[in-house]
Amino acid sequence: MIDALARTDGVLRTDRSFADLTTLRIGGTPAATLVCSSPAAVATVVGTLDRAGVPLLVVGGGSNLVVGEDVAGLVAVVLAPGRGEDAAPVVDTATGTVTAFAGEVWDDLVAVTVDAGFGGLECLSGIPGSVGATPVQNVGAYGAEVSRTLSRVELYDRTTGTLDWVDPASLDLAYRYSNLKFTGRAVVTAVEFRLTTDGLSAPLRFGELARRLGVGADEDRPRRPVADVREAVLALRRGKGMVLDADDHDTWSAGSFFTNPVVPDAAARDAVLAAVTDRCGADVAASMPCYPAGEGFKLSAAWLIDRAGFARGWQVPADDGGTGRAALSTKHTLALTNRGGATTADIVALATAVRDGVRAAFGVTLVPEPVWVGVSLPD
Ligand SMILES: Cc1cc2nc3c(=O)[nH]c(=O)nc-3n(C[C@H](O)[C@H](O)[C@H](O)COP(=O)(O)OP(=O)(O)OC[C@H]3O[C@@H](n4cnc5c(N)ncnc54)[C@H](O)[C@@H]3O)c2cc1C
Repeated sequence: MIDALARTDGVLRTDRSFADLTTLRIGGTPAATLVCSSPAAVATVVGTLDRAGVPLLVVGGGSNLVVGEDVAGLVAVVLAPGRGEDAAPVVDTATGTVTAFAGEVWDDLVAVTVDAGFGGLECLSGIPGSVGATPVQNVGAYGAEVSRTLSRVELYDRTTGTLDWVDPASLDLAYRYSNLKFTGRAVVTAVEFRLTTDGLSAPLRFGELARRLGVGADEDRPRRPVADVREAVLALRRGKGMVLDADDHDTWSAGSFFTNPVVPDAAARDAVLAAVTDRCGADVAASMPCYPAGEGFKLSAAWLIDRAGFARGWQVPADDGGTGRAALSTKHTLALTNRGGATTADIVALATAVRDGVRAAFGVTLVPEPVWVGVSLPD
């Protein structure tokens, strides 16, 4: 069956390990790797494997995955751009509508929209991975979320075996979440965005970025030329090791490893503040990032990790079984990185130590952002 699928139009078999397929560069070798370069190819491959009961994992850029060493029972279905001209993103300059195959490289698409003078995606510059994965976890950065720009999403529904455009509202998009994440119920095969066409960015909402772009304190809903915003975002991201660079181990990561925790109410927030005061003093507690989020409050995972004693570059001590192959990024405490030759066990040990340390210090249990396959974080 795999050989027959490999002969399908738009499908290529290139067997590789997950250490090759993921940005954390860890994980074993799947039974086969089938690269699909069109929605029809995705539908054929996923449909055939599903009907035969073969477990599969859809992969884009592998930048949000933690994969175990034993995955030999799995077929990796990789979505990647095709070479034909008809596969290029479709850009409608009159309406600001852009449509792209899910396997396109996300940042290449952002560059196309910025070159066209379209606003809406510029703050999401430099995020690794594919177009199709962006609605899966509603990617976000620098005050923007992809959900604000989606007009339609094409899905291959694995229950019905059909390919259809759906309204983004049906995906329950929320902070780093959609009902596609963790469920695998459907594969995103194409995405349509509706962007602004006046050459200016979406209103800037993120202080650090606004300051870099010279936004004045009195400016209401400040906007700037999209190319300037893209350049500023890429510069900020590079400083934090958040733009992939094969030569920089700080970028051998899955990005932010833990989501920012949301505590349910003021009492829970005050309990965290009391724990921070006990450990770090009242001055530090007064500076704790804390933002209203629905009924509760969103805290900063990076800040909590740092204040719990995990500085940049921290690694599990050798006395506790640390191998030195996995460490926090030297640029950002929220990224767990492969320093070269790390195994899944090294990353799991590091993640466990950080999560448990933050819990012991402040009573907050951090939750990983990436999708785990063939391995899990122990309770
Ligand atoms: C250095 C770095 C920086 C990052 N910065 C950010 C950031 O600023 N903001 C942010 O939100 N994220 C960030 N990330 C995380 C990651 O880049 C995004 O989540 C990205 O959208 C993942 O895309 P991918 O194609 O690599 O997905 P993969 O890692 O290949 O897959 C992730 C999950 O999505 C599923 N999936 C992938 N494609 C599809 C599809 N077409 N249809 C259905 N399911 C699919 C997979 O099965 C898997 O469950 C960062 C990661 C790295 C390494």
